[in-house]
Amino acid sequence: MMLGSRRLLPVLLYATCALGPAALMHDERSLRDQVVSALTRLAFAVLLAQFLLAGRIRPVTVTFGLDTVMRLHRRAAYVAVPILLLHPFLYENVPDPHGVAEGSGIAASVLLAGLFAAALTRRSLPLRHETWRLMHGTAALAVAGVGTLHAIEAPADAHPALMWVWLGFASVAAATMLHVYLLRPLARRGRPWRVVAVRPDTQGVWAVTIEAVGHSGLRFEAGQFVWLILDRGPFSLREHAFSIASAPSHPTRLTILIAGEGDFTNTIGTLRPGARAWLDGPYGGMMPLSRKARGFVLIAQGAGVAPILSILREAEARGDRRPMLVIVGARREEGLIARAELAALRRTLDLTIAEVLAEPPRGWTGVTGKLDATVLTRFCREPQTSWVHVIYGRPAMLAAARAALAQGGVPARRILAEAVGYE
Ligand SMILES: Cc1cc2nc3c(=O)[nH]c(=O)nc-3n(C[C@H](O)[C@H](O)[C@H](O)COP(=O)(O)OP(=O)(O)OC[C@H]3O[C@@H](n4cnc5c(N)ncnc54)[C@H](O)[C@@H]3O)c2cc1C
Repeated sequence: MMLGSRRLLPVLLYATCALGPAALMHDERSLRDQVVSALTRLAFAVLLAQFLLAGRIRPVTVTFGLDTVMRLHRRAAYVAVPILLLHPFLYENVPDPHGVAEGSGIAASVLLAGLFAAALTRRSLPLRHETWRLMHGTAALAVAGVGTLHAIEAPADAHPALMWVWLGFASVAAATMLHVYLLRPLARRGRPWRVVAVRPDTQGVWAVTIEAVGHSGLRFEAGQFVWLILDRGPFSLREHAFSIASAPSHPTRLTILIAGEGDFTNTIGTLRPGARAWLDGPYGGMMPLSRKARGFVLIAQGAGVAPILSILREAEARGDRRPMLVIVGARREEGLIARAELAALRRTLDLTIAEVLAEPPRGWTGVTGKLDATVLTRFCREPQTSWVHVIYGRPAMLAAARAALAQGGVPARRILAEAVGYE
């Protein structure tokens, strides 16, 4: 994949941070020990950079998309953690650390092994996501602190600059935690929102409307999402990612479509108008309307309909007459989200809607199947193949849809995809 200039800079920055400490060689050890030492420093730098990936840095998530950033966060751990845990056993000939160097090394290894094991088995742990998030963040910060101490104390003859590099990296890691848990909540405390309507949509799906209280609202682009706290204080950890379903031209009144997926989203029906709401955002790198495109194919699975509604509503507000084909998938007919709103938009937009059901009712005249290659390639005809294709769905569905569109002749540069859900 070609990297655009917008993406090149953060990639180069990441590579420099990861490789920089490894390049600071300053000893006369055997080649093997130097390689092990460089690899260990590379792994530790990657571990500290994990805070930046998970730290909700807006330019990063806007440029790459949340799912890509979180995937890199997970994959980087698979590479860095085994190296860090095994490095003491890989050296050929190094003096055994003792004192602070030994203690910090053992403590960092134990904490890191626990953190990694918990992350691998997370789904089977009986923990709410918020509890997990707090534990993961706190343990990661402890690993960073003790690991930095070990990285400074353990090498017998380290490059003089290395101590400052590690202190700098550890400070940035701590600052990202401060950013997420203190500065962002403080910022949102000054911009409160209030729930003004909670309306049932389809089965298990609610449309929640919130209104800005005493401020100018949220500037965002159609297709973006926010982290939302409902009915709690601004410092609550119970925040969730939701796409905005309303148009950016109404920045003080936002609508969110929430599908019951877990312990919080299944309680939305009990939410009452007047409840407090707090936002962090906008995030997300999908801003299709600002693209030079002859038309759009908008593909949605489940809650993926929400950002597509925002795109269509904004197109309507702007008087955008470019043709749009919406392909929306659900298991059953009653699972088709915001069906009436989508249909109503046909009056003002050049809009075609194709509904795809995996389990259609008797007499169904729409398309039957899943949003996979069999179904999607049927829509890959001229002129649509030259339009911009926008996909919102679960991570697994995105990969399959991308592959299907490529198979149908849509060039990769005309495919934009973002996950609305987790792996
Ligand atoms: C960019 C984006 C946009 C989204 N837009 C919408 C939308 O418009 N409408 C909608 O209904 N849903 C949307 N979702 C999904 C929504 O965020 C989840 O359904 C919700 O957070 C589940 O919360 P819960 O407490 O009810 O469920 P839980 O029981 O807490 O979680 C259900 C599952 O999701 C996982 N999960 C929850 N939060 C996270 C997290 N922060 N990181 C990793 N995994 C997590 C849990 O581990 C669990 O497996 C979006 C998700 C993303 C990433």
